[in-house]
Amino acid sequence: MSIRMIDLEAEYVLLAEEVLPVITKVLKSGSYIQGKIVRDFEQDLAQYLNVKHVISCGNGTDALQISLMALGIQAGDEVIIPAFSYIAVAEVVCLLGATPVFVDVDETYFQLAIASVQKAINLKTKAIIPVHLFGQSAHFEALCELAQRNKIKIIEDCAQALGGKYSIDGKEKFLGSIGDFGCTSFFPTKNLSCFGDGGALFTNDDELAARARMIANHGQKKRYDHHLVGVNSRLDSLQAGILKVKLTKLNQVIERKSAIAERYKDRLKNLKLVELPDNCLAGQNSWHQFTIKVANGLRNPLKEHLTAKGIDSMIYYPMPITDQIAYQSYGAEFPVAQKLSYEVLSLPVHQLLTLKDIDYICAQIIAFFDARS
Ligand SMILES: *Cc1c(COP(=O)(O)O)cnc(C)c1O
Repeated sequence: MSIRMIDLEAEYVLLAEEVLPVITKVLKSGSYIQGKIVRDFEQDLAQYLNVKHVISCGNGTDALQISLMALGIQAGDEVIIPAFSYIAVAEVVCLLGATPVFVDVDETYFQLAIASVQKAINLKTKAIIPVHLFGQSAHFEALCELAQRNKIKIIEDCAQALGGKYSIDGKEKFLGSIGDFGCTSFFPTKNLSCFGDGGALFTNDDELAARARMIANHGQKKRYDHHLVGVNSRLDSLQAGILKVKLTKLNQVIERKSAIAERYKDRLKNLKLVELPDNCLAGQNSWHQFTIKVANGLRNPLKEHLTAKGIDSMIYYPMPITDQIAYQSYGAEFPVAQKLSYEVLSLPVHQLLTLKDIDYICAQIIAFFDARS
């Protein structure tokens, strides 16, 4: 038995028939950067998410950076970010010379803890970047209220939550379509992914969209007409073509992953030392990861047990960002982030797993705890 976190080779085989003609067409077109197909994909994604503007770019990290640049974030400004997250969110704030203000997360949903966000806000706070971690959503209603009251911008990091939803003011909206900007990544392991690097940002604000589009392409309004200091961050035509095909399957991917998550929850519900992830705060979890918490210091032994049984698992993330060497100077204690880094374990949840695979994984997990009781 061998169960991996993700099986990109098998996913490719399923897609090949549909994707290869698109790739050939782009290759024959000679239009490899900013081709028409890039705009077509942007329009498809805008329609899917029900946002006014989608601006594609080179990767998800760039999407975050371009958003901050479009909002004019600079040295002296503070940006609130979670201490328990992927590194990109900290990187971009520091690169722009702004100050990252790390905040702890809540223990159940792994999202920015609202009381701590509230405490961190001051006159220098210009933006908050909630990361919708693992496919779950941030505590969005409370965040929006705080942001509005204090005139702070919200940039949603949707790299792990594209296709997920959140109900706000009685309306269900896609994550990424609610803040001033939403950002995503098309890295191969994400729910909507390409065959390389790619990313996009979304907004409903015409002016911000125009700025972001210029910044992503050397700050130029049209060729050799540079209005802003920009970057070179563009989605390849080839990747746009691939994404255009894969976007039509995103709902299916999320449905499949939801079914897998439900199976896990059903099979593992009686384990006392395992806490299962919640479905959602107020919407639809897109199940980028299925992340359990293992108590009593048993996380690492369980991981080793699964490895011995041919089952991959991953620790996202092994430490709070502020424990990383590059970010220690922003240090502070984040007890929840610290605790989570000892307890979390992400189990395989990719779309090609069968329920039999999940039952096998669950049987091995149950056997591990049975042997200890
Ligand atoms: C993947 C990811 C990113 C960065 O995306 P890249 O395309 O790899 O630059 C940013 N934030 C989160 C939460 C991610 O998971």
